[in-house]
Amino acid sequence: MGSCLFCDIAAGKIPCTQVHSDEKFLAFRDIDPKAPTHILVIPRRHIAGLTELENSDSGLAGELILTAAAIAAEEGLAEAGYRFVINSGSDGGQTVGHLHLHILGGRRLEWPPG
Ligand code: 5GP
Ligand code: ZN
Repeated sequence: MGSCLFCDIAAGKIPCTQVHSDEKFLAFRDIDPKAPTHILVIPRRHIAGLTELENSDSGLAGELILTAAAIAAEEGLAEAGYRFVINSGSDGGQTVGHLHLHILGGRRLEWPPG
């Protein structure tokens, strides 16, 4: 596997503003926030994206959502609401090839997305 930005962040080789850390997941603030609260939640294990998820990853995928929902609540977003986004591939706007879930909140988000 070549170098991966988010693997390097998970390994502590590149600094981040950490929000949550456990044995399976790391959450940190997006370097270019698109909302007042913009957090990325990543599995520590390298998975390139949604397309690369396997059936054996069902537990991890579920825990990713539960972990992100807990972080959103800790950030005080639960009452007003928030959005999870996982971009996939070029049409989906994915720019980093390591699965990540965006937590966006703190303002009213528009729908549909651009
Ligand atoms: P994507 O476009 O792949 O769904 O999301 C990638 C996200 O990673 C973007 O929102 C971008 O701002 C963020 N990002 C890119 N490089 C870095 C970095 O070095 N540190 C942090 N914290 N976020 C980054
Ligand atoms: Zn990676």
